[in-house]
Amino acid sequence: MSAITEEIQKLDITALRKEFPVLNQQINGKPLVYFDNAATSQKPDVVIKAIEEYYQGYNANIHRGIHTLAEKATKAFEDTRETLRAFLNATEKEEIIFTKGTTESINLVAGSYGRKFIREKDEIIISAMEHHSNIVPWQMLCEEKGAVLKVIPVSEKGEILMEAYEELLSERTKIVSVVYASNSLGTINPVKELIDKAHDKGAIVLLDAAQAAAHEEIDVQTLDCDFLAMSAHKVYGPTGMGALYGKRSLLEDMPPYQGGGEMIKDVSFAKTTYNDIPYKFEAGTPNIADVVAFREAIHFVNRLGKKNIAAHEAEILDYATEKLQAIPDIRLIGTADDKVSVLSFVIEGIHHFDIGQMLDAAGIAIRTGHHCTQPLMNEFGLEGTARASFAVYNTKEEVDSMVVGLEKIIKFLKQ
Ligand code: PLP
Repeated sequence: MSAITEEIQKLDITALRKEFPVLNQQINGKPLVYFDNAATSQKPDVVIKAIEEYYQGYNANIHRGIHTLAEKATKAFEDTRETLRAFLNATEKEEIIFTKGTTESINLVAGSYGRKFIREKDEIIISAMEHHSNIVPWQMLCEEKGAVLKVIPVSEKGEILMEAYEELLSERTKIVSVVYASNSLGTINPVKELIDKAHDKGAIVLLDAAQAAAHEEIDVQTLDCDFLAMSAHKVYGPTGMGALYGKRSLLEDMPPYQGGGEMIKDVSFAKTTYNDIPYKFEAGTPNIADVVAFREAIHFVNRLGKKNIAAHEAEILDYATEKLQAIPDIRLIGTADDKVSVLSFVIEGIHHFDIGQMLDAAGIAIRTGHHCTQPLMNEFGLEGTARASFAVYNTKEEVDSMVVGLEKIIKFLKQ
């Protein structure tokens, strides 16, 4: 874990768990242990209640209405934009665009900026540890434009090979799109260095912050990234909701991504003029309820403090790493020096699906498979891994339950 200082406060995890109704249940007769947080984190009461309150109290379409409910809904919606601006330390709230999540944010940049500015033989650089959502949109763009996709290799520990990156960069590089923290390996990438080197060549940089947003302090001005994509549901917020940060100068130069209501200034059959940012990129009635709930999720994270969250998760990660390393049959995948709380592993001779199923029988939810990073799995010569990923409400006792479960599985399947 990075950037942990002495101001850390210990969180009361027992009290905190009570804010997450879903955690208080039995699965297959055992208390639920939820270790699938990299796929989606659970939602605190405040987030769930925000959705209910919106539909029960002030459901109305936003921006164009002059009645009280419309004004209330618009205010709540735009408050989330300001909350996100502060969360990412963007200069202006107009630089925050609401999307369905990281996937749509990346597609927006590829489909709008990419379509306008990428030419034949231009180069786009990604890394070998990208999620499919940061591979496929660029492949589609390259195919359409005759551009070339280049891939930064990673080391055995799962770290970006910086020298290889420097060799890939050239005057032809137009976009670098890299993951801030890997969902399969946990690696936190040296994003500032990646950004500075790309800028030296005149390329713009998109950061996939889907995993980083819940754990890392993000300051888009200090990072100087050009775009940043994130999903609400990995930061204790609702699913199908997220944001794209983009520098004003770039967003203003980009064509709309979708056409429809809200993104226009004036429409006639002869010609349409487009709205200003951010609305130019928000065609149609948005997911107002989930935008409002997204604000509560960010407030929740702010209330706890990212440093405190990161410190607690680091403790759990270190504890779990030590425990799993002590089991001879287990091999950890992704052992970078700087990691978010993701622990991928394989057990020689046991399929990861069997591990997942048998842990589920004990009430323990982990993820198994390629984690939407098939090319990375191929690099490691694996079909998939078992992955435990931790959030602020997880405990060492839960790790102990998983360890007991894993020991049983090994004993049972290896005899
Ligand atoms: N990028 C990373 C690193 C992820 O972990 C994920 C989701 O697992 C995504 C992108 C896609 O996020 P979403 O499905 O919310 O769009």
